[in-house]
Amino acid sequence: MRKVRELFPEGEISFIAGPCSVESREMLDEIARFLSGIGVRMLRGGLFKPRTSPDSFQGLREQGLSIMREVADDHHMVMITEVMDPDNIELVGKYTDVFQIGSRNSQNFALLKELGRQEKPVLLKRGFGNTTEEFYQSSRYISSEGNNEIIMVERGIRTFEDSTRFTLDISSVPVMKEKVAFPIVVDPSHPAGKREYVESLSLAAVAAGADGLMIEVHPEPDLALSDGRQQVTFDQFEKIYRKAIEIRKTMNSGL
Ligand code: PEP
Ligand code: MN
Repeated sequence: MRKVRELFPEGEISFIAGPCSVESREMLDEIARFLSGIGVRMLRGGLFKPRTSPDSFQGLREQGLSIMREVADDHHMVMITEVMDPDNIELVGKYTDVFQIGSRNSQNFALLKELGRQEKPVLLKRGFGNTTEEFYQSSRYISSEGNNEIIMVERGIRTFEDSTRFTLDISSVPVMKEKVAFPIVVDPSHPAGKREYVESLSLAAVAAGADGLMIEVHPEPDLALSDGRQQVTFDQFEKIYRKAIEIRKTMNSGL
């Protein structure tokens, strides 16, 4: 089984990036080529999408699994995709390297327990209505079944503030570091809701001590089938990527 600490080495900033939804082989290949070219090793992409409205694009679903696997292999990247239903774990597990649990399923205890019995790492996103303690307890549903390869992702919580999509709880980085030894990753895209805020939130997360960033990137965000407003362009991503690495280096220099 892959070790999460190999994916997120202590004292470094690691990156997971890719589109909100996989839309076609061509677009995913273009994204993976760009990302692997600058050194990103982990490719995210939704195939089974938890959309608020049943009328919205639900993802390529089964037909996207082999596409994503092949593109990840072509570019020597780790595949990360969401599983929403315990009945789908076996199928998704034939393709993915890491199972993602989305915010809306962060307290789906049947799903957590079943993933705790799998031989693959689990990326657990914080429920947007959950406290850090509830987030921690969700991770225990996975670890208590035997799977200790867990990646914790802060992705914003719902507050009274409505100028952003969610409120990024930057405090959860030090708080969760006290509670668990797992890598703590920040997803700045979903709380930002707008691509122009993604850089600030990313850099704040690195400064707060996050082990990784999970960022949505799209070659033409305005044409995206989901979350177009928050996905960054390749140019924006590269700028964030380089600045984040510099901040981490400065932190490591002990200034
Ligand atoms: C995602 O990362 O694809 C996603 C749906 O995010 P969240 O579950 O955090 O809303
Ligand atoms: Mn998204």
